[in-house]
Parts: sequence; C-alpha cells; structure tokens
Amino acid sequence: MNEEIGAKKTTIININHSGINNMDKLYIENKIKSLSKEDLEKLQYVADILKSGGIVAFPTETVYGLGANGLDEKAVEKIFKAKGRPSDNPLILHVASLNQMQDLVLEIPQNVEKLIDRFWPGPLTLVMKKGPKVPDIITGGLDTVAIRMPAHPIALKLIEMSGLVLAAPSANISGKPSPTRGEHVVRDLDNKVDAIIMAGECNIGLESTVLDMTGGIPTILRPGGISKSELEKVLDRVDLDKGLIDSTNIKPKSPGMKYTHYAPEATVYIVRGKNFVDNIKNLSKKYEKKGKNVGILCFDDTYNNYDNPVVKSLGARNKLEEAAFNLFNILREFDDLNVDIVLSEAVEEVGMGQAIMNRLIKAAGNRIIEGE
Ligand code: AMP
Ligand code: MG
Repeated sequence: MNEEIGAKKTTIININHSGINNMDKLYIENKIKSLSKEDLEKLQYVADILKSGGIVAFPTETVYGLGANGLDEKAVEKIFKAKGRPSDNPLILHVASLNQMQDLVLEIPQNVEKLIDRFWPGPLTLVMKKGPKVPDIITGGLDTVAIRMPAHPIALKLIEMSGLVLAAPSANISGKPSPTRGEHVVRDLDNKVDAIIMAGECNIGLESTVLDMTGGIPTILRPGGISKSELEKVLDRVDLDKGLIDSTNIKPKSPGMKYTHYAPEATVYIVRGKNFVDNIKNLSKKYEKKGKNVGILCFDDTYNNYDNPVVKSLGARNKLEEAAFNLFNILREFDDLNVDIVLSEAVEEVGMGQAIMNRLIKAAGNRIIEGE
C-alpha cells in the first residue's frame, strides 16, 4: 500500500446496489443477506485494506463515508490528510453491533437504549463519554465520542467483515458539498485514497443528526437525517444547541459546526422574506449586469417564476425529504455549470427543513439577505 497521500493509485470498485428505501431492521437484514458472492468478495478485498491500515470510501444511507480503522491513529491521520480536514474537527465512529459500541464509551447514559432501539441502524449519531480505547485524534481531544450505526447494507457488512470500528467522515474534500454519489467521491478523492466503492446514490443525502447525550437534556449538535420532532416521540425533551441558533455569539458545541462547509465554487446568497421571488429576480438582474453567471436554487412551487439559464429545483416544498436528497448533488451541479452567484430560496426551519437550512446557511457562508 502506498504510504504517501496524494500519490496513491485508487482502486475503484463498482457494486450494483439499489441502497435502501426505508429503515426497517428486518428489511435491512434481508438486504445484507441478498448481497451476492461477488459483492462479498469485493467487500472482503476492501475489508482487508482497512485491516492493514488503509483508507476506503464507501456508501452509507446518509452520504458516502471515508473509512479507516478508528482505533488506529496512523490510519485515522490519513483520513485527515486526504480530506484536508482540520484536526480539531472530531470524527464519528461507525459500528455494526452494540458490543462494538459498549467498548468505546465509559458509560451508557439514560435513554440511549431507547434511542438505539428506535433509530439504529440509521442516521442518528450519539455523543457519549469516551472510553480509554478511543484515541484523541478521533475526538479532537474532547472527552466525548460520537458513535453511529449506519443502515446501508454495504456499510454494515463492511464493518462486520473488517471486525473494526470505522472512523468515517464524509468522503469529500473538506469544505465541499458532501458526496451523495460515487462520482462525487471519485472527483474529490481519486488518487488520495486506497479504494472507492461506487454503489449508486445515498438514499437520504444529508448527514446524520448528532445528539449529545452527556448532559441532562439530550441536545442536537447538528441537525440531520432524524428530525427533532422524531426524537421527541421517544424522548420527553430535546434541545437544540444554542450555538446553532446564534453562532456569532455562542460557540457551537460540535466543533465541526464552526467551519464553512458544503460550499460550491459560486458565492451563495440565501434570500428570505415575503417577496423572496421578486427580490431574487431583482438581485439576479443586478449581478447579471455586472457580467456574473447567476444560478437560482428554488423549489418546484416557484420554479416557473425564474427565466435564468440555470434554475435548479430541490423539489416540492411539501416534500423536504426529497429536497434533502437533492441538495448536495445540485450544489455540485452549479460547479459544473460555471455559475458565479447562486441565489437560493430559504425553507422553514421545521422537520427536515432544520437540517436543510443548516447546510444551506453553511454553503452560503452565512450570507443571508432578509427582504420584505
Ligand atoms: P462528518 O464526519 O463530516 O459527518 O462530521 C462529523 C460531525 O460530528 C462534526 O460536525 C463533528 O464536529 C461532530 N462530532 C464528532 N465527534 C463529536 C463529539 N465528540 N462532540 C461533538 N461533536 C462531535
Ligand atoms: Mg463532512
């Protein structure tokens, strides 16, 4: 295996897999059982790379992850280098069993079992007190560790076959939109990682919800695939980290939240307010006069109002799961179309809208235009 990052020959492995379309445990188990002999041979090859300290991109139901043995500092260091990720941004550890999880934490807080029972495998990451086995490079020096059990059959099977706990941040260059298709990973990480498993689209398309279980009240540190209201069906009370609401005055508890993220090459502006369509159209004219290529990011409901050459819809406003699924791919499409400025509609911050707006605001580097 080539030790030098940036000078690797990446093995591209294609697995024909439709992913999953729900989080039912039995359904996922059956999907794992239906992996073919050929698929399993490919996964064994990748598991062996992981066992010998290599780094490998693979699909999860949220976004593609870049995995390494989470308890091997040297292997984890390669992830940070390949992504250009700041070292104080901790990684999530991915497990395929409860035994694996128990080994990583000091204690299992109240309510964790209930959450696991309802939401694992799935897009919920739980932050708990870290046990002694977890290296500091994983947690960025924090005394807590973030753990998740992914639901994608390929991810689960790969973890199981490697016998390892996998550190797996999103498989993109830090700061870029997260990869929701194998092609996105190849574009960002070809020749920087040992292997890339390409297996179609991720069915959720947004990262997991990060929930801090170390304080009294479970607190969302990053909104994601499981909404606050879904968590509230299981827990009496769930808070949203105050740093997410007012990040200029309060430091977010999740170190990753302070970085600009998800950004396409273009400068993104979010336009809010009652007359947002007119305001977007006026701004668009203004930028076009300056010779800029303007792209519009909107919903089906208002799509026909815009006559710009590049107009992309996230889907219907009443189907935010679909918008979440489309978001990162569309942000990357703007790059392909050489757009200089993206003017984006906003969405109400409820349900999945919370996670969508969190990603959009980051993609926009906080450039929000509040109109009438
Ligand atoms: P990514 O791996 O790109 O999905 O990002 C992982 C997210 O989880 C980042 O926002 C991290 O800051 C967050 N995270 C990981 N570990 C912890 C932790 N121990 N405490 C708080 N947030 C964490
Ligand atoms: Mg990421």
